[in-house]
Amino acid sequence: MKQTLLNFENLRGDFPMLKKTMHGKPLIYFDSGATTQKPQVVIDTLSDFYRNHYGTVHRAVYELATHSTTEFQNVRFQVATLINAAKPEEIVFTRGTTESINTVAYSFGKGFIRPGDEILITEMEHHSNIVPWQLLCEDRGAVLKVAPMNERGELIMEEFTKLLNSKTKLVAVTYMANSLGTINPIKEIAALAHEAGAKILVDGAQSTPHMPIDVQDLDIDFYAFSGHKIYGPTGVGVLYGKEELLNAMPPYQGGGDMIDTVTFEKSSYNDLPLKFEAGTPMIAEVIGLGAAISYITEIGLENIQAWEHELLLHATERLKEVKGLKMIGTAAKKGGIISFAIDGIHPLDIGTLLDLRGVAVRTGFHCAQPAVRRFSETGTTRLSFGLYNNKSEIDHFVTALQEVVRLLK
Ligand code: PLP
Repeated sequence: MKQTLLNFENLRGDFPMLKKTMHGKPLIYFDSGATTQKPQVVIDTLSDFYRNHYGTVHRAVYELATHSTTEFQNVRFQVATLINAAKPEEIVFTRGTTESINTVAYSFGKGFIRPGDEILITEMEHHSNIVPWQLLCEDRGAVLKVAPMNERGELIMEEFTKLLNSKTKLVAVTYMANSLGTINPIKEIAALAHEAGAKILVDGAQSTPHMPIDVQDLDIDFYAFSGHKIYGPTGVGVLYGKEELLNAMPPYQGGGDMIDTVTFEKSSYNDLPLKFEAGTPMIAEVIGLGAAISYITEIGLENIQAWEHELLLHATERLKEVKGLKMIGTAAKKGGIISFAIDGIHPLDIGTLLDLRGVAVRTGFHCAQPAVRRFSETGTTRLSFGLYNNKSEIDHFVTALQEVVRLLK
């Protein structure tokens, strides 16, 4: 474990942003749940591509275009390996988790949801895994059901199971809740959903950066995540879907690349995955995502998970020293996210004063209003760890927080 600790301390040096100061203080970045900082290798890959190799994909025979196409397609293989998809054709590039979920809501919805059908989500979802289903339900006359969580922020499995029935067509659930850190028992949830005849979509925005993922072992039908949360560029994400489902679904958007033939009377569509990738894609961002995937897989997702768990335990213990602090989200299985409220102090004030001390945290509702309101009407202060964080940052943060609390009380 000492070796792991040593290595992780060194990794901080890979991230240029972490050498910055904020308000004259060294930057302590605890908002990786929102977005992660980028390692030099990702920045270099983007710059090298734009400087030396830039060209379009899928459309031309000249060297630059064929090189770009090969690099772009290689990332599809990398993503398939990262999450253990059966085939690269099951990997669709999108703009992010939000677009991936909206793609399924639109296309699966159009293909398979009828009036009276039910979509089952949970109380701890991000708005991205609530609102697309509301839009779908309004459009198709379907019904949105919500499985509740307990006081610790864990899904109540008996209630979840009771809500499953023959009308349930899709279960959409987060692997790791962004506001509470709860890790859901996805394998069990997927088995229950399938037993009821439903499909399952897993929001992997928070799980993908922090733990190994095996979509075949979990037996999930759709999986969504964002590049910018796994140390890659913004504007790129992934939708994984089982081949037979993606084949059976109508396309999301129309345009170039997603077609086979076009006449004014009728168009036919391309094979997977291009059927779901209309228009010129985010070429550089996909290639940058490839560099990010190489970076995290070289470190090892198991190692990242173990390191962030150590950070979680250390921070949880140290925060007990802060008077009046209440942890929000105390699930038995948690990722590296800590949300808390402090008696009589607004989270916005905490966040503002921490910023002046160089500490970046998120405050408010974290795009998960129903989940956070369940515990606090004013929202929470949230720390979310990345692989570059360390225990001395947590210690600095606790000192800064105690100072802030003294000032505000
Ligand atoms: N789902 C969860 C659990 C998230 O944490 C986020 C982002 O914070 C999203 C979905 C949306 O991701 P994006 O904004 O990258 O599409």
